[in-house]
Order: sequence, then C-alpha cells, then structure tokens
Amino acid sequence: MALALEILQSEIIDCHQCPRLREHCAAIAQTKRRAYREWDYWGKPVPAFGDPQARILILGLAPGAHGSNRTGRMFTGDRSGDMLYRVLHRAGFASQPLSQSRDDGLVLRDAYITAAAHCAPPGNKPSPQEIRNCRPFLDRELELLPNVKVVVTLGKIAFDSYLDILKSHGAIPSRAAFVFGHNRRFQTAPGLPLLISSYHPSQQNTSTGKLTEKMLDDVFRAARRALGKATGLSDPAGPPPHPAPASPRPNTVENRRNPQGRRSFRQPGRVSKV
Ligand code: SF4
Repeated sequence: MALALEILQSEIIDCHQCPRLREHCAAIAQTKRRAYREWDYWGKPVPAFGDPQARILILGLAPGAHGSNRTGRMFTGDRSGDMLYRVLHRAGFASQPLSQSRDDGLVLRDAYITAAAHCAPPGNKPSPQEIRNCRPFLDRELELLPNVKVVVTLGKIAFDSYLDILKSHGAIPSRAAFVFGHNRRFQTAPGLPLLISSYHPSQQNTSTGKLTEKMLDDVFRAARRALGKATGLSDPAGPPPHPAPASPRPNTVENRRNPQGRRSFRQPGRVSKV
C-alpha cells in the first residue's frame, strides 16, 4: 500500500488537468512574496503527506499560495499550518509543533493529510469542476489507507468533497442529511470511518476568531477519543455523533457484487465501533 500511495503521489505531482490552477501555481512561484524571494518555490501540485498506516485522515481544501505551493508539503509554511501542526503535536499526531519545510524532520504519527484540490487556487477558491477533477485522487487515497477510522474535514468544501465520494459509491443516498458545522461528528454509514467536520484554520477564520486554537484542539481530542487513546489533554465528554440517516443498503451494482458488505469506502459494511 505504501508503494501504491507513493505512485499515486507521483501522479498528482505530474497532473495537468486544471490548466488555470497549474498556471496560477507557476505564476506565484515566479513572482514570489518578498519575504520568500530566496526560496525556490515548489509551484506545482502538492502531494499528500503522512503515515500509510494512519487511522486518522485529515482533509483540507487546497495548498496556500505561499505556504504549501512554496514548500511542497501540505499545510507547511503558513499560519494555517502553524496552528494545525501545533494542535496535531499536542494531540500526539505530529512529532513536532513546527512545520517549515519538507526537510524539517516533521513526522506524522497515525495521521495522513491530503486535500480536496492539490493545486493552489486563485483566491483560495477552486472551481467546482477543479474539485471534481481532483476527486479521483482522494477516492484512491481512501482505498489505499485501509486503517482509517476517523476522517477530519477542514472546511465545508472538504466536507462536501468527502461526502460526494461516499455518495458516488452508494454508501450514502445524498449529502442532505449531513449539515456542516464545527466539531460535528457523523456516523455516515455502517462500517465507514467516523466523520468529524471542522472549520478550516484559514487566516480569515483564525483572525476573526471564528476558529480558535482551542476549538481545533477540541476536534482532534474528539478524534483521539474516537481512536480510543489518551492524549495527555483534558478530555471532556463531547456531544454524541450524528447518526447515519436510516436508509436501506443502496441497491448498487457494487453492493450486489458484495452482499457480505466487506469494509470498504466503495461498499458500506458492518458497523465498526471507533
Ligand atoms: S487540482 Fe488536482 S486535478 Fe487539478 S491539476 Fe491540480 S492535481 Fe490535477
């Protein structure tokens, strides 16, 4: 699986499906920000990063123009990442609280970070078509991460993107039953990972106080609690997860081929307590 994930990341780096985004990434890499003019910007799709045996998958929106698009690693080199990695370190998912470059020694433990779009978009807004172009990469990542028990989505676009994948495989009938909010937990379908939605740690959200560091701590405490491990943080009881909407197992071709309901992102299966 680790090799398959590496191959997938190579494909992402070489992807040119969204000319607008590729041009934007390259243009930013040429003009640079004054503070980083000595940097050799990455300037292309940013691969996912983390532990192939991860039990928690963190799904962001897209690389930041002068963060990941500069450093070449998810959430590395900007304030969003500064907050995220401090939180992940406190929760025991990151080896250090600082994330500055691809060779800074940071290791993720039991966690894997990817994004709904792998290229930095103008205005931090990929188009719906660009999100759709990138979704097959996420779909394959989900298949190649067999131990994932918790998915944390950062922001509504990531939340919708994950649900769209479940819907495309017939695991949920629609997105309508899942209402985005901060630190909301959803049991999407029997046998699938617990979904936790969070506000994105964007500068806009953090500078306005919409998302505080404590609020993000709470999300990853909930994730850690779901994995059944102590974090060393105080662990107040959280709200119960939102149950999956009552619906029969969809009559998809895949389900008919797999009547036993083997655990897979493509087929809902037996309930797996997390
Ligand atoms: S956003 Fe995704 S699909 Fe589009 S060019 Fe980048 S890697 Fe390819």
